[in-house]
Amino acid sequence: AKKESKDCWRFYTEKMQIDAYEKMRLTGSLRHALERNEFSLVYQPQISATDRKLIGFEVLLRWNSPEYGNVPPMQFIPLAEQSGLINSIGMWVLRESCQFARRLSEQGGSDIRVAVNISSKQIAVDDFIVGVCNAVNAAGIDPQQLELEITESVLIQSMEDAIGKLAHLKEFGVKLSLDDFGTGFSSLTYLRQLPVETVKIDKSFIDMITSDVQGAKIIASVINMAHAINMKVVAEGVETEAQLEYLLDKDCDIIQGYIFSCPIVEAAAMKFLADHSEV
Ligand code: C2E
Ligand code: CA
Ligand code: CA
Ligand code: CA
Repeated sequence: AKKESKDCWRFYTEKMQIDAYEKMRLTGSLRHALERNEFSLVYQPQISATDRKLIGFEVLLRWNSPEYGNVPPMQFIPLAEQSGLINSIGMWVLRESCQFARRLSEQGGSDIRVAVNISSKQIAVDDFIVGVCNAVNAAGIDPQQLELEITESVLIQSMEDAIGKLAHLKEFGVKLSLDDFGTGFSSLTYLRQLPVETVKIDKSFIDMITSDVQGAKIIASVINMAHAINMKVVAEGVETEAQLEYLLDKDCDIIQGYIFSCPIVEAAAMKFLADHSEV
């Protein structure tokens, strides 16, 4: 394990690039990971920029494989997508996340949002909407407590199909946000067709704030454009005071990053809730 920053550990395999044979072996292992209980979830706080209150948690999946150790999601999520396993894994994440949301509301956090990453492959599947509704209903939570983080790649497959399904989910009451904004090719004007209420600026842009004057200006204009069409803005991967200060100055709404907390296990998340609630 490599120490990433104060209190934040990241596990990594020596080489991030793996060959076809290793991919095949990893996928074979991934096939049994659900039934063998090798997955777990961690939760990263999202903080309101103006009053520093806890707004929500992003759910992040972890895989501890007996053969490979802790495999980073950047490595196994693409394999899960290619093999189709993402549908069953993604549904497990959704169900668990809704149960987590229920436990949050039992601890006084009924207004705390739980944001779940959704692969475009999942949305393409026919019973995706039913699966989301079932997960919400089984947990007995308000649909508004659940937020789905989608990426613009949903539009690559079938734009009409994706927009229709997302509109359906929005009608049901779940929140939608556009993840990894800035890493693709679409403009916000085009993405406005998606029924999302929040846009997340990708960490790669946040990293530019102190190093790239043009990059910093892009962030400021994205925030302005998003506000002009009534979207909220989340900044992801905020690590330094300088970044935070810039984002506050440009009226960014929500901050997520190591500056406040890395992804944490449930007990720590509950403590975070207790420490960041109003009295
Ligand atoms: P993402 O959706 O962009 O998630 C944010 C990533 O940035 C997470 O990495 C998080 O741990 C990391 N991060 C947050 N704040 C900071 C910071 O201040 N500094 C640094 N250096 N990193 C920060 P993680 O957990 O490794 O996840 C990587 C990606 O894997 C995610 O990127 C997401 O695309 C995917 N992923 C994770 N969990 C799931 C899941 O349940 N389903 C799907 N479909 N994808 C997932
Ligand atoms: Ca995300
Ligand atoms: Ca990202
Ligand atoms: Ca993502």
